[in-house]
Amino acid sequence: MVGGGQLARMTHEAGIPLGIRFKLLSDTPQDSAAQAVSDVVIGDYRDLDTLRAFAQGCAVVTFDHEHVPAEHLRALEADGVVIRPGVEALLHAQDKGVMRERLRAAGVPCPRHRIVTDPTDVVRFAEEGDGFPVVLKTVRGGYDGKGVWVVRNAEQAADPFRAGVPVLAEEMVDFSRELAANVVRSPHGQAVAYPVVESIQVDGVCDTVIAPAPDLSGELSAQAQELALRIAAELGVIGHLAVELFETRDGRLLVNELAMRPHNSGHWTQDGAVTSQFANHLRAVLDLPLGDPRPRAPWTVMTNVLGGDFPDMYAAYLHCMARDPGLKIHMYGKDVKPGRKVGHVNTYGDDLADVRERGRHAADYLRGTITE
Ligand code: ADP
Repeated sequence: MVGGGQLARMTHEAGIPLGIRFKLLSDTPQDSAAQAVSDVVIGDYRDLDTLRAFAQGCAVVTFDHEHVPAEHLRALEADGVVIRPGVEALLHAQDKGVMRERLRAAGVPCPRHRIVTDPTDVVRFAEEGDGFPVVLKTVRGGYDGKGVWVVRNAEQAADPFRAGVPVLAEEMVDFSRELAANVVRSPHGQAVAYPVVESIQVDGVCDTVIAPAPDLSGELSAQAQELALRIAAELGVIGHLAVELFETRDGRLLVNELAMRPHNSGHWTQDGAVTSQFANHLRAVLDLPLGDPRPRAPWTVMTNVLGGDFPDMYAAYLHCMARDPGLKIHMYGKDVKPGRKVGHVNTYGDDLADVRERGRHAADYLRGTITE
Protein backbone atom coordinates (compact mmCIF):
# COMPACT_ATOMS: atom_id res chain seq x y z
CA MET A 1 0.00 0.00 0.00
CA VAL A 2 1.26 3.43 -0.94
CA GLY A 3 0.83 6.03 1.80
CA GLY A 4 1.47 5.69 5.52
CA GLY A 5 -1.66 7.23 7.01
CA GLN A 6 -4.25 5.71 9.31
CA LEU A 7 -6.08 4.07 6.41
CA ALA A 8 -2.98 2.00 5.65
CA ARG A 9 -2.53 1.26 9.33
CA MET A 10 -6.06 -0.13 9.60
CA THR A 11 -5.87 -1.97 6.26
CA HIS A 12 -2.69 -3.66 7.46
CA GLU A 13 -4.48 -4.64 10.67
CA ALA A 14 -7.28 -6.25 8.63
CA GLY A 15 -4.72 -8.30 6.69
CA ILE A 16 -3.11 -9.86 9.78
CA PRO A 17 -5.74 -12.59 10.38
CA LEU A 18 -5.44 -13.54 6.70
CA GLY A 19 -1.66 -13.73 6.91
CA ILE A 20 -1.32 -11.25 4.06
CA ARG A 21 2.22 -9.97 3.58
CA PHE A 22 1.74 -6.24 3.67
CA LYS A 23 4.38 -3.86 2.36
CA LEU A 24 4.17 -0.13 2.89
CA LEU A 25 5.59 2.92 1.11
CA SER A 26 5.61 5.72 3.67
CA ASP A 27 7.00 9.27 3.70
CA THR A 28 8.55 8.91 7.16
CA PRO A 29 9.04 6.19 9.81
CA GLN A 30 6.77 8.22 12.12
CA ASP A 31 3.71 7.99 9.87
CA SER A 32 0.71 6.24 11.37
CA ALA A 33 1.03 2.98 9.40
CA ALA A 34 4.85 2.94 9.37
CA GLN A 35 4.74 2.56 13.17
CA ALA A 36 2.76 -0.67 12.82
CA VAL A 37 3.96 -2.37 9.61
CA SER A 38 7.25 -4.32 9.65
CA ASP A 39 7.95 -4.22 5.89
CA VAL A 40 8.28 -0.48 5.31
CA VAL A 41 10.03 1.41 2.54
CA ILE A 42 10.60 5.06 3.36
CA GLY A 43 10.36 7.16 0.22
CA ASP A 44 8.55 9.76 -1.83
CA TYR A 45 5.46 8.54 -3.72
CA ARG A 46 5.98 11.40 -6.19
CA ASP A 47 9.22 9.81 -7.40
CA LEU A 48 8.78 7.20 -10.14
CA ASP A 49 12.00 5.31 -9.39
CA THR A 50 10.94 4.97 -5.74
CA LEU A 51 7.54 3.64 -6.82
CA ARG A 52 9.14 1.20 -9.28
CA ALA A 53 11.50 -0.20 -6.67
CA PHE A 54 8.69 -0.44 -4.13
CA ALA A 55 6.34 -2.28 -6.51
CA GLN A 56 8.89 -5.03 -7.23
CA GLY A 57 7.61 -8.30 -5.86
CA CYS A 58 4.16 -6.93 -5.00
CA ALA A 59 1.21 -9.03 -6.25
CA VAL A 60 -0.89 -5.86 -6.22
CA VAL A 61 -0.38 -2.20 -5.34
CA THR A 62 -3.16 -0.19 -3.71
CA PHE A 63 -3.42 3.20 -2.02
CA ASP A 64 -4.03 5.02 1.24
CA HIS A 65 -4.52 8.33 -0.64
CA GLU A 66 -5.15 9.56 -4.17
CA HIS A 67 -2.06 11.74 -4.62
CA VAL A 68 0.26 9.49 -6.66
CA PRO A 69 0.72 11.29 -10.01
CA ALA A 70 -1.32 9.64 -12.77
CA GLU A 71 1.66 9.55 -15.15
CA HIS A 72 3.59 7.45 -12.61
CA LEU A 73 0.65 5.07 -12.24
CA ARG A 74 0.53 4.72 -16.03
CA ALA A 75 4.26 3.98 -16.11
CA LEU A 76 3.86 1.31 -13.44
CA GLU A 77 0.94 -0.24 -15.32
CA ALA A 78 3.09 -0.28 -18.46
CA ASP A 79 5.78 -2.11 -16.44
CA GLY A 80 3.18 -4.79 -15.71
CA VAL A 81 2.53 -3.81 -12.09
CA VAL A 82 -1.05 -4.65 -10.99
CA ILE A 83 -2.59 -1.45 -9.62
CA ARG A 84 -5.99 -1.57 -7.94
CA PRO A 85 -7.96 0.55 -8.37
CA GLY A 86 -6.41 1.20 -11.81
CA VAL A 87 -5.36 4.61 -13.05
CA GLU A 88 -8.38 5.11 -15.33
CA ALA A 89 -10.67 4.78 -12.31
CA LEU A 90 -8.39 6.67 -9.89
CA LEU A 91 -8.35 9.75 -12.13
CA HIS A 92 -11.92 10.43 -10.98
CA ALA A 93 -10.88 10.48 -7.34
CA GLN A 94 -7.83 12.65 -8.08
CA ASP A 95 -9.49 15.45 -9.98
CA LYS A 96 -12.89 16.88 -9.08
CA GLY A 97 -13.29 18.39 -12.58
CA VAL A 98 -12.72 15.02 -14.27
CA MET A 99 -15.07 13.37 -11.76
CA ARG A 100 -17.87 15.87 -12.37
CA GLU A 101 -17.64 15.57 -16.17
CA ARG A 102 -17.69 11.80 -16.07
CA LEU A 103 -20.61 11.62 -13.67
CA ARG A 104 -22.56 14.14 -15.70
CA ALA A 105 -21.94 12.08 -18.87
CA ALA A 106 -23.15 8.98 -17.02
CA GLY A 107 -26.36 10.75 -15.99
CA VAL A 108 -25.48 10.76 -12.28
CA PRO A 109 -27.18 13.63 -10.40
CA CYS A 110 -24.59 16.23 -9.33
CA PRO A 111 -24.73 19.89 -8.21
CA ARG A 112 -24.69 22.38 -11.11
CA HIS A 113 -21.02 23.01 -11.85
CA ARG A 114 -18.36 24.08 -14.31
CA ILE A 115 -14.68 24.92 -14.41
CA VAL A 116 -14.19 28.68 -13.95
CA THR A 117 -11.24 30.72 -15.17
CA ASP A 118 -11.18 33.82 -12.92
CA PRO A 119 -13.35 35.81 -10.45
CA THR A 120 -15.32 37.45 -13.30
CA ASP A 121 -16.16 34.01 -14.60
CA VAL A 122 -17.36 33.05 -11.10
CA VAL A 123 -19.80 35.97 -11.27
CA ARG A 124 -21.00 34.69 -14.66
CA PHE A 125 -21.43 31.20 -13.18
CA ALA A 126 -23.50 32.66 -10.34
CA GLU A 127 -25.66 34.61 -12.79
CA GLU A 128 -26.26 31.51 -14.92
CA GLY A 129 -27.93 29.95 -11.87
CA ASP A 130 -29.46 31.23 -8.65
CA GLY A 131 -26.68 33.75 -7.91
CA PHE A 132 -24.36 33.73 -4.90
CA PRO A 133 -23.26 32.02 -2.73
CA VAL A 134 -21.18 29.75 -4.93
CA VAL A 135 -18.89 26.94 -3.81
CA LEU A 136 -15.38 26.96 -5.31
CA LYS A 137 -13.02 23.99 -5.15
CA THR A 138 -9.53 23.42 -6.38
CA VAL A 139 -9.83 20.33 -8.57
CA ARG A 140 -6.85 18.63 -6.90
CA GLY A 141 -5.18 18.47 -3.52
CA GLY A 142 -8.14 19.26 -1.20
CA TYR A 143 -9.07 17.29 1.88
CA ASP A 144 -11.15 17.84 5.01
CA GLY A 145 -12.63 21.03 3.54
CA LYS A 146 -9.21 22.51 2.68
CA GLY A 147 -9.51 23.57 -0.94
CA VAL A 148 -13.21 24.44 -0.59
CA TRP A 149 -14.48 28.04 -0.40
CA VAL A 150 -17.99 29.44 -0.09
CA VAL A 151 -17.92 32.83 -1.80
CA ARG A 152 -20.51 35.59 -1.89
CA ASN A 153 -18.96 38.02 -4.40
CA ALA A 154 -16.16 38.50 -6.93
CA GLU A 155 -13.64 39.78 -4.33
CA GLN A 156 -14.02 36.66 -2.22
CA ALA A 157 -13.56 34.54 -5.35
CA ALA A 158 -9.92 35.60 -5.79
CA ASP A 159 -8.33 33.25 -3.24
CA PRO A 160 -8.94 29.84 -4.86
CA PHE A 161 -7.17 30.94 -8.06
CA ARG A 162 -3.91 31.69 -6.23
CA ALA A 163 -2.99 28.00 -5.96
CA GLY A 164 -2.49 27.77 -9.74
CA VAL A 165 -4.76 24.73 -9.94
CA PRO A 166 -7.97 24.71 -12.03
CA VAL A 167 -11.01 25.82 -10.04
CA LEU A 168 -14.41 24.14 -10.13
CA ALA A 169 -17.51 26.19 -9.31
CA GLU A 170 -20.60 24.51 -7.90
CA GLU A 171 -24.02 25.68 -6.86
CA MET A 172 -24.32 25.87 -3.09
CA VAL A 173 -26.57 22.89 -2.40
CA ASP A 174 -29.30 23.42 0.17
CA PHE A 175 -28.94 19.98 1.70
CA SER A 176 -30.70 18.59 4.74
CA ARG A 177 -27.81 16.26 5.48
CA GLU A 178 -24.81 14.45 4.07
CA LEU A 179 -24.86 10.73 3.38
CA ALA A 180 -22.29 8.25 2.18
CA ALA A 181 -22.92 5.11 0.13
CA ASN A 182 -19.97 2.76 0.47
CA VAL A 183 -19.47 -0.18 -1.85
CA VAL A 184 -16.65 -2.60 -2.63
CA ARG A 185 -16.06 -4.14 -6.05
CA SER A 186 -13.69 -6.92 -7.09
CA PRO A 187 -12.04 -7.65 -10.44
CA HIS A 188 -14.54 -10.49 -10.91
CA GLY A 189 -17.26 -7.84 -10.87
CA GLN A 190 -18.59 -9.00 -7.51
CA ALA A 191 -19.78 -6.08 -5.42
CA VAL A 192 -21.20 -5.47 -1.96
CA ALA A 193 -22.97 -2.41 -0.58
CA TYR A 194 -22.79 -1.30 3.03
CA PRO A 195 -25.79 0.34 4.67
CA VAL A 196 -26.02 4.02 3.69
CA VAL A 197 -24.72 6.22 6.50
CA GLU A 198 -25.23 9.81 7.62
CA SER A 199 -22.08 11.84 8.08
CA ILE A 200 -22.05 14.98 10.17
CA GLN A 201 -19.31 17.52 9.44
CA VAL A 202 -18.09 20.20 11.81
CA ASP A 203 -15.96 23.00 10.28
CA GLY A 204 -15.49 20.94 7.11
CA VAL A 205 -14.20 17.90 9.04
CA CYS A 206 -16.17 14.68 9.49
CA ASP A 207 -17.25 14.50 13.13
CA THR A 208 -19.81 11.71 13.44
CA VAL A 209 -21.03 8.89 11.20
CA ILE A 210 -24.31 7.12 11.97
CA ALA A 211 -24.99 3.68 10.50
CA PRO A 212 -27.55 3.28 9.12
CA ALA A 213 -28.63 6.85 8.30
CA PRO A 214 -31.58 7.55 10.63
CA ASP A 215 -35.02 7.88 9.01
CA LEU A 216 -33.70 7.38 5.49
CA SER A 217 -36.53 5.99 3.39
CA GLY A 218 -36.05 2.52 1.92
CA GLU A 219 -36.43 4.10 -1.49
CA LEU A 220 -33.64 6.70 -1.08
CA SER A 221 -31.41 4.16 0.63
CA ALA A 222 -31.78 1.74 -2.30
CA GLN A 223 -31.26 4.63 -4.75
CA ALA A 224 -28.01 5.62 -3.01
CA GLN A 225 -26.68 2.05 -2.99
CA GLU A 226 -27.63 1.51 -6.64
CA LEU A 227 -25.98 4.81 -7.59
CA ALA A 228 -22.74 3.81 -5.83
CA LEU A 229 -22.74 0.34 -7.41
CA ARG A 230 -23.40 1.87 -10.83
CA ILE A 231 -20.54 4.38 -10.42
CA ALA A 232 -18.20 1.60 -9.28
CA ALA A 233 -19.07 -0.50 -12.34
CA GLU A 234 -19.01 2.38 -14.87
CA LEU A 235 -15.67 3.72 -13.66
CA GLY A 236 -14.20 0.24 -13.25
CA VAL A 237 -13.38 0.79 -9.59
CA ILE A 238 -11.65 -2.08 -7.80
CA GLY A 239 -11.65 -1.94 -4.01
CA HIS A 240 -13.60 0.33 -1.68
CA LEU A 241 -15.54 3.24 -3.19
CA ALA A 242 -17.05 5.92 -0.97
CA VAL A 243 -19.71 8.05 -2.65
CA GLU A 244 -20.39 11.18 -0.61
CA LEU A 245 -23.91 12.42 -1.19
CA PHE A 246 -26.12 15.37 -0.36
CA GLU A 247 -29.73 14.66 0.57
CA THR A 248 -31.57 17.79 -0.56
CA ARG A 249 -34.49 19.28 1.32
CA ASP A 250 -36.80 18.18 -1.47
CA GLY A 251 -35.73 14.54 -1.13
CA ARG A 252 -33.18 14.13 -3.94
CA LEU A 253 -29.67 12.73 -3.89
CA LEU A 254 -26.71 14.58 -5.45
CA VAL A 255 -23.18 13.21 -5.57
CA ASN A 256 -20.60 15.39 -3.81
CA GLU A 257 -17.42 13.38 -4.22
CA LEU A 258 -15.77 10.01 -4.66
CA ALA A 259 -12.97 8.29 -2.74
CA MET A 260 -11.46 5.05 -4.05
CA ARG A 261 -9.95 3.67 -0.87
CA PRO A 262 -11.20 2.98 2.64
CA HIS A 263 -12.91 6.13 3.90
CA ASN A 264 -13.75 7.86 7.17
CA SER A 265 -17.45 7.21 6.53
CA GLY A 266 -16.68 3.46 6.66
CA HIS A 267 -14.72 3.30 9.92
CA TRP A 268 -17.87 2.17 11.76
CA THR A 269 -17.62 -1.16 9.87
CA GLN A 270 -14.60 -2.23 11.96
CA ASP A 271 -16.90 -2.96 14.89
CA GLY A 272 -20.34 -2.60 13.34
CA ALA A 273 -20.34 -4.79 10.22
CA VAL A 274 -19.66 -8.47 9.63
CA THR A 275 -16.76 -7.54 7.32
CA SER A 276 -14.97 -4.21 7.69
CA GLN A 277 -14.26 -1.86 4.79
CA PHE A 278 -10.56 -2.55 5.31
CA ALA A 279 -10.95 -6.34 5.08
CA ASN A 280 -13.18 -5.99 2.03
CA HIS A 281 -10.79 -3.55 0.35
CA LEU A 282 -8.01 -6.12 0.75
CA ARG A 283 -10.21 -8.95 -0.48
CA ALA A 284 -11.22 -6.90 -3.51
CA VAL A 285 -7.73 -5.85 -4.58
CA LEU A 286 -6.56 -9.47 -4.13
CA ASP A 287 -9.59 -10.70 -6.12
CA LEU A 288 -10.87 -12.82 -3.24
CA PRO A 289 -14.60 -13.29 -2.64
CA LEU A 290 -16.02 -10.34 -0.73
CA GLY A 291 -17.27 -10.50 2.85
CA ASP A 292 -20.72 -9.82 4.22
CA PRO A 293 -21.29 -6.03 4.57
CA ARG A 294 -24.33 -6.31 6.82
CA PRO A 295 -24.47 -4.53 10.20
CA ARG A 296 -24.03 -6.41 13.47
CA ALA A 297 -26.12 -4.06 15.59
CA PRO A 298 -29.19 -1.89 14.98
CA TRP A 299 -27.01 1.24 15.35
CA THR A 300 -23.29 1.87 15.10
CA VAL A 301 -21.84 5.35 15.54
CA MET A 302 -18.30 6.44 14.67
CA THR A 303 -17.09 9.59 16.40
CA ASN A 304 -13.79 11.11 15.32
CA VAL A 305 -11.28 12.01 18.02
CA LEU A 306 -9.61 15.34 17.32
CA GLY A 307 -6.52 16.59 19.07
CA GLY A 308 -6.92 19.07 21.91
CA ASP A 309 -4.51 20.70 24.33
CA PHE A 310 -3.23 17.50 25.95
CA PRO A 311 -0.56 15.63 24.01
CA ASP A 312 -1.12 12.33 25.85
CA MET A 313 -4.52 10.76 25.34
CA TYR A 314 -3.50 7.49 26.96
CA ALA A 315 -4.15 9.00 30.37
CA ALA A 316 -7.83 9.33 29.39
CA TYR A 317 -8.24 5.61 28.62
CA LEU A 318 -8.76 4.73 32.29
CA HIS A 319 -11.90 6.81 32.64
CA CYS A 320 -13.27 6.03 29.14
CA MET A 321 -12.86 2.29 29.49
CA ALA A 322 -14.21 2.18 33.04
CA ARG A 323 -17.25 4.26 32.08
CA ASP A 324 -18.09 2.25 28.94
CA PRO A 325 -16.81 -1.33 28.57
CA GLY A 326 -18.52 -1.51 25.15
CA LEU A 327 -16.45 1.39 23.75
CA LYS A 328 -14.09 0.62 20.86
CA ILE A 329 -11.10 2.97 20.68
CA HIS A 330 -9.02 3.25 17.50
CA MET A 331 -6.02 5.55 17.80
CA TYR A 332 -3.66 6.27 14.91
CA GLY A 333 -0.37 6.85 16.71
CA LYS A 334 -0.25 10.44 15.49
CA ASP A 335 1.13 13.40 17.38
CA VAL A 336 -1.74 15.24 19.01
CA LYS A 337 -2.24 18.70 17.52
CA PRO A 338 -5.31 20.85 18.08
CA GLY A 339 -8.00 19.95 15.54
CA ARG A 340 -6.04 17.08 13.96
CA LYS A 341 -7.83 13.73 13.47
CA VAL A 342 -5.88 11.40 15.73
CA GLY A 343 -8.35 8.53 16.16
CA HIS A 344 -11.97 7.53 16.36
CA VAL A 345 -14.27 5.61 18.64
CA ASN A 346 -17.01 3.20 17.66
CA THR A 347 -20.08 2.53 19.78
CA TYR A 348 -23.03 0.32 18.97
CA GLY A 349 -26.31 -0.83 20.45
CA ASP A 350 -30.09 -0.71 20.24
CA ASP A 351 -30.73 2.87 21.36
CA LEU A 352 -29.38 5.49 18.96
CA ALA A 353 -29.42 8.37 21.46
CA ASP A 354 -27.41 6.30 23.95
CA VAL A 355 -24.98 5.06 21.29
CA ARG A 356 -24.36 8.66 20.15
CA GLU A 357 -23.93 9.96 23.69
CA ARG A 358 -21.33 7.30 24.49
CA GLY A 359 -19.32 8.13 21.37
CA ARG A 360 -19.54 11.88 21.97
CA HIS A 361 -18.50 11.51 25.59
CA ALA A 362 -15.47 9.38 24.76
CA ALA A 363 -14.28 11.65 21.93
CA ASP A 364 -14.66 14.77 24.08
CA TYR A 365 -13.00 13.16 27.08
CA LEU A 366 -10.06 11.92 25.00
CA ARG A 367 -9.69 15.39 23.53
CA GLY A 368 -9.82 16.94 26.96
CA THR A 369 -12.80 19.24 26.39
CA ILE A 370 -14.70 17.54 29.22
CA THR A 371 -13.25 16.19 32.43
CA GLU A 372 -15.90 13.83 33.77
P1 ADP B 1 -12.96 17.67 0.56
O1 ADP B 1 -12.26 17.13 -0.62
O2 ADP B 1 -12.17 18.67 1.32
O3 ADP B 1 -13.60 16.62 1.43
P2 ADP B 1 -15.65 18.27 -0.40
O4 ADP B 1 -15.88 18.51 -1.82
O5 ADP B 1 -16.11 16.97 0.17
O6 ADP B 1 -14.12 18.56 -0.07
O7 ADP B 1 -16.34 19.43 0.45
C1 ADP B 1 -16.20 19.54 1.85
C2 ADP B 1 -17.53 19.93 2.49
O8 ADP B 1 -17.98 21.19 1.96
C3 ADP B 1 -18.66 18.96 2.18
O9 ADP B 1 -18.65 17.87 3.08
C4 ADP B 1 -19.89 19.86 2.34
O10 ADP B 1 -20.21 20.00 3.71
C5 ADP B 1 -19.40 21.18 1.80
N1 ADP B 1 -19.73 21.29 0.35
C6 ADP B 1 -18.99 20.86 -0.68
N2 ADP B 1 -19.57 21.09 -1.86
C7 ADP B 1 -20.74 21.72 -1.60
C8 ADP B 1 -21.80 22.24 -2.40
N3 ADP B 1 -21.79 22.20 -3.74
N4 ADP B 1 -22.87 22.80 -1.74
C9 ADP B 1 -22.90 22.88 -0.40
N5 ADP B 1 -21.92 22.42 0.41
C10 ADP B 1 -20.84 21.85 -0.16
